[in-house]
Amino acid sequence: MTVFKFAPAPRLTETRTVECKEPGHGQFEISVVEQFEGGALSTSCPACRWTALNTQTSDLLRTVAREAEQADKLNAALFATGITPRFRACTFESFQVGDNPDKQRALNICRQYAEGFADHYRDGRALMLLGEIGNGKTHLACAILQHIVRVEGASGLIVTAEAIMQAVTDSFRSNAGPSKSELLTELAAVDLLVIDEVGMHTPRPGRDFMPSLLHEVIDRRYQLVLPTILISNQGRERLPDFIGPRALDRLREKGGLLAPFTWSSARVGGEA
Ligand SMILES: [Zn+2]
Repeated sequence: MTVFKFAPAPRLTETRTVECKEPGHGQFEISVVEQFEGGALSTSCPACRWTALNTQTSDLLRTVAREAEQADKLNAALFATGITPRFRACTFESFQVGDNPDKQRALNICRQYAEGFADHYRDGRALMLLGEIGNGKTHLACAILQHIVRVEGASGLIVTAEAIMQAVTDSFRSNAGPSKSELLTELAAVDLLVIDEVGMHTPRPGRDFMPSLLHEVIDRRYQLVLPTILISNQGRERLPDFIGPRALDRLREKGGLLAPFTWSSARVGGEA
């Protein structure tokens, strides 16, 4: 059984049993499902939906049922990205560039990466977003993720380096959750993985297993020719301290892209 440690599912805020009025459908469970864009939607009778999708009913009923099914799948896929409520409204359009050419350049690189994702996916081409904290790196990474999920129907996940390490540390301490190998498999299963907040901790040479762990994650995806986005407040020259030198080479292969976020940070508007 696959245990998903990193990819969240929408919350079911209420569940109750009701009787469908259609003959033969009987009782079913209504759940109120949290929606990625806010609010919640009630589920409907599964037998009614099945009938609309699979039997000779009206085109309208079938279209409504099909759209509802697609909306459910999209909602689940958006939740599974791990984008937190704070970053759900982050789009390319909502990224403020003002008259700063460096911001415009970072936006262009990220937008082009999202729009050209089919090619980057085929080649396993990575993208690094490097620069000051508070300059909108996570904002644009979340915009890329939403784009590839909504437009390409791809799967994506954003996770911090710390969360990866914490999950692996927990797996050593307890047999209850997923094993390290299952965690690495989950991180290698998505079409696009974003590793956020790389380089936020103080490296402890010889005692620090973060670099070798991140190397393992990046290398696994490299072997599978899957793209990874890495976000760090560190410059390229210091990154090997946090992910190991070979992982940096992996990220640069196949024309790996780099978006610099090097303008001086002003935490205006709550960007991260
Ligand atoms: Zn029914």
